[in-house]
Amino acid sequence: MFDPDLLADPRAVVIFTGAGMSAESGVPTFRDRMTGLWAHTDPMEIATPTAFRRQPQRVWDWHVHLAESIRAARPNAGHLAIADLERRGVKVTVITQNIDSLHQRAGSQNVVELHGNLLRLKSFVDEDAAFAMKRAPVICPVCGGYADPDECDRYADRSDLAAIELRTGPVPHCPCCGALLRPDIVWFGEMLDPEVIEAAWDAVEDCELLIAVGASLEVEPAASLPWRALGRGAQVIEINPTPTGLAEYCHASFAATAVDTLPGLLDLIASGQTIRTPQA
Ligand SMILES: [Zn+2]
Repeated sequence: MFDPDLLADPRAVVIFTGAGMSAESGVPTFRDRMTGLWAHTDPMEIATPTAFRRQPQRVWDWHVHLAESIRAARPNAGHLAIADLERRGVKVTVITQNIDSLHQRAGSQNVVELHGNLLRLKSFVDEDAAFAMKRAPVICPVCGGYADPDECDRYADRSDLAAIELRTGPVPHCPCCGALLRPDIVWFGEMLDPEVIEAAWDAVEDCELLIAVGASLEVEPAASLPWRALGRGAQVIEINPTPTGLAEYCHASFAATAVDTLPGLLDLIASGQTIRTPQA
């Protein structure tokens, strides 16, 4: 069942990455508590729409702290090896659960961010406030949220929004409609963006090889992606120091880290060589 020839020259590859990929760059897991000032704050209580509605400044400050550790991190050898595979002409789609931009910073061009991106902002859409508006709200042309047409600044555009960063200070507002801005990530209790999920499924439907890296495969739709690839006959490899239930069923499993495994493995794939794996 393991087909090294197919692996050696795959037409399309999906690299699916989870928290383990970023951990090797020193990025904390989103679900883990921080140290220091925020040590007593439970991420599952502060990274929610309800918390932001009640205490926007506190929620903003928590994310600023997280952003600082992400800005200080650097792509590791695994991130760089993935970007290199794409540069060598293989069609690569990175599907990631991480929100830290490390794949893009390493040079990957085609990244599907299942849980969004911490360093990008969007408007906080407050349905209650929209209902309470005196006039029927319009869609803000800059942030895409609900806006009172009388309140909008006609001269503001998307570049004004793009220039605002997740930094220390008061919670910023949309330069057009005045809505509060928030990180463009999926908070606890929120749905994933259907377009992003569709892009991930499309890539999985099209791939000949899927490599799951450092992903615990506990939450949907992430948990189903490798299984879908297996189901349609693609080759599937898992790289995880703590192998998941997938290890038993996929074509090769490496109980190791991304940094230890990806550079060598992806170099073999890109150079069209037969791969020797623990199960081959
Ligand atoms: Zn707006």
